[in-house]
Order: sequence, then structure tokens, then C-alpha cells
Amino acid sequence: MSENFAGLPGYRRFLAALDSALRRCGPRKRVGVVLVRARHVQEIKASHGYECAEALVRTLAGRIVRVLRDNDEIERIEDSCIALILPDLSATAQAELAANGILAACQQPYEAGGDRLSPKVSVGVAIYPTDASTSGDLVRCADIAAAEATDTPAGYAIFNQAMDQTRQSQRSYQLERELEGAIGRGELHVCFQPKVALRDGALVGAEALLRWTRADGKAVPPDVFIPIAEQSNLIVPLTVWTLNTAMRACSDLLESDPGFSIAVNLSPVALNDPDIFALIAQAASIWCSTRQQLVLEITETALFRDPVTALRTLEEFHGEGIRLSIDDFGTGYSSLAQLARVRLNELKIDRSFVNGVTRIERNMQIVRSVIDLAHNFGLTVVAEGIEDDETYACLAALGCDHGQGYYIARPMVTDIFLEWAQTGRVTRPALDLA
Ligand code: C2E
Ligand code: CA
Ligand code: CA
Repeated sequence: MSENFAGLPGYRRFLAALDSALRRCGPRKRVGVVLVRARHVQEIKASHGYECAEALVRTLAGRIVRVLRDNDEIERIEDSCIALILPDLSATAQAELAANGILAACQQPYEAGGDRLSPKVSVGVAIYPTDASTSGDLVRCADIAAAEATDTPAGYAIFNQAMDQTRQSQRSYQLERELEGAIGRGELHVCFQPKVALRDGALVGAEALLRWTRADGKAVPPDVFIPIAEQSNLIVPLTVWTLNTAMRACSDLLESDPGFSIAVNLSPVALNDPDIFALIAQAASIWCSTRQQLVLEITETALFRDPVTALRTLEEFHGEGIRLSIDDFGTGYSSLAQLARVRLNELKIDRSFVNGVTRIERNMQIVRSVIDLAHNFGLTVVAEGIEDDETYACLAALGCDHGQGYYIARPMVTDIFLEWAQTGRVTRPALDLA
């Protein structure tokens, strides 16, 4: 049993000890993971001082040690959080018994500077292999249960999947509420990632990528908030906002260079919205010198989710002169023959094939045949995710038309992108400043 209740290194030690307990776990046995969160530690720090709060957590740890079995393990993984491993359990009920014992021991009164405190803890339990199979996931499950325990009279909770779903839907509901007001609060902005002609490195366009930085300074990745926007009715206003913002920011470039285009991602939900064509066509009429300066990037899955509506809308875009690009090509299941039914202009080879094209023969074969086939269909081919000079040179040699990726430039905020576009290089770091 570890007597060392240090801060964060404790968490790493705990995960290592848990990994080894999981490896030792016999066929019909279970391992219990228990998190004990001391509550009101901040308040105690404020009222009785840091030393008192620290002594309280240490005392709780000492009390817990006394109710544990010899082969149980204990580690302080955070300021106010103690984590336990209960190996060799035959039934979940044993972990419940342990949780009860821990609670009773922790709730004994505690003397602090003449005051008698009644320590409060929340105890969460997760069981291997029922709840999760890896150490990190088990801790996460126990943590969710501990948060749930705060609201229960028992003071402890055993993890169940419903808790996880409830938490996740609460979290996305909260994000959805915040996202609703994010435009108004100025928390959204658009970054630009250049697309260049691989032959000579000339700038041919840029992909507009949406960024959300919340009021607390934390960035929420698009992979998280785009699905939330899709589930609510926010994706269409967000798409239109992104398009208008991106085109306004690049209006000088659009005016001076008819060959320059802005690509905007069109999610499957947006593509199937009845108003989307009119909204996008209107934005294009405001900002574009020629409609070909707008490219809509659509994934394969978007095309086949509701093919009748999708194909009709894409026909409308095509009729308007707006260009269509198939994004992440290779990750879906469509063949180029199926795609031939759509009036596409561009195909973007997914970065999972591009990455490793110089090292993995199979990637090289796939990329080569995609380029040849796409050219036969009259499509411009873009390789996304080019991260080094060898990949760049290899794709150029294979006849790929355009490229995009960290090697060329990362997504950049407007000012830095415009400078990059002017000079072909940046004087400040080309970081994705999201
Ligand atoms: P995507 O359309 O495939 O966008 C390209 C993603 O790859 C971007 O991530 C970009 O930062 C990243 N990337 C670019 N070059 C490289 C590289 O060399 N290596 C690697 N590893 N990654 C590279 P980001 O900006 O996080 O966007 C993730 C996804 O979120 C996008 O994937 C797109 O599906 C979605 N997204 C972003 N902005 C929007 C938006 O305005 N509307 C919609 N519907 N989706 C968006
Ligand atoms: Ca894209
Ligand atoms: Ca992509």
C-alpha cells in the first residue's frame, strides 16, 4: 500500500498500479476502483486555512487505510481525491461493503483549530470488467459515480451506464445552450488553411475552419461542437455565418484574384436543410466575383444519407456555378462510379491515406489510383494532411493537383492568413491560434 499521497504524480502511479491489478485479475474475479472525493475542501481552506484542509485530507486517507484489506491499494490522485484499488473481488456487493465502511470512517467528526467539523465525502465505485476495461476509463466511471453520489442520501454510488449517458447529454445540452449565444458574444471565429498548387506552390484557395473559444478561454474543438450544432437547429445559421465571415475577411483577395476560392464545410444536416441553397446562393452573390470562388466540401456519407434530397440540392449548387468538393475521400464506402452521379469538381483524398504515402506501399497504390481515376472523371484532386516535404514531393510526382496540410501551413487567423497569402510565408508563427 502506498503511503505517499502526493499530487498529480499520484494519478500516474495509480493508473500504473491499476494496470497491473487488471493484468493480475483472475477469470471470474473483479477489480473495484473507488474514488473518495472530500467535499467542501475549498471552503475549509478559506475558513480554516490551507494547512487545515491538507491535514483533513491526510486524516481521511489514514482512516480509509484502516478499513482496507492488506492487498487493497490507495493513492491520493488530486488535492481532494483519494483513489483505491480493490483487487480480487468475487462480487460487486463486496465493493459496496467497502464503500460503506469508507464512508462511515470518513464521516467521523474532525477537530480543527477548536472547531468540530463533520467531514463530507462522495464515494464513487466502478467495477472491472463490467464497467470498463482500461484503467483510465475505470477512473472516469468511478469519477462519474462520485459526482452522482453527491446527490444521493447514501453518499456513495456504484457506476452504471445510464449515469454516463445522463452526464454526456447534460454536457452537450449545456454546450448547446452556450453555442446558441456564441456568435452574439463574439466567441466564434474562422481560421483559414491554404490550398496550394503542388506544381508551383501557388495559392489557389483556403478552407474556412470554424473555431469556438468560450468565455472562460477554453477552446471547444469543432469535432465536439459541430455534432452538437447538427443535433440542434444551429448548424444552418453557423454554416451561413462561417461562409459570410470567411468571404468578408477575404473580400480583397476574392476581388483581385478570380482564381482564388474559399471552401466551406457543409455538414450532412445542413445539406439536407430546405433553406440551405437559397441562403448560400445569396451569400455567394454578395461576395464572389465568380460563383466558382465558392467551394462546398461535402463528405461521402453526407451524399448517401438522404441521396434524393442531397443530389437535388447539389444539382442546384452546380446550376448556380458553385463548386463541389468531396471531403475525406476514402473513409466512406462509395466508389467513384457512384460519385459520378454527382456533379463534383474536386476530390480531397483523406489524410489517413496521404499520411504515410511515402512509407506504406498500399497507401501509395491507393493514392495513385484515386488520382488517376479522379482525373478520368475530370476532377481536381487535393491531398489533405501533407505534413512533410517528402509527402509533398511524392504527391506532386503522382500528379496530384493541389495540397493542404501542416507542412504548407496550419489553419491561421485572418490577419496571419492574409499576410501569408501576400508574401507566401509568415513572419509570425503560423500557429492555429484557436
Ligand atoms: P476537415 O474538413 O477534414 O478539416 C481538416 C481538419 O484537418 C482540420 O481540423 C485541420 O486543422 C486538420 N488538418 C489540416 N492539416 C492537417 C495536417 O497536416 N495534419 C493533421 N493531422 N491535421 C490537419 P479542424 O479544424 O479541427 O476540423 C476538424 C473537422 O471539423 C473538419 O474536418 C470538419 O469536418 C469540421 N469542421 C471544421 N469547421 C467546420 C465548419 O465550419 N462547418 C462544418 N460543418 N464542419 C466544420
Ligand atoms: Ca473539409
Ligand atoms: Ca477533410
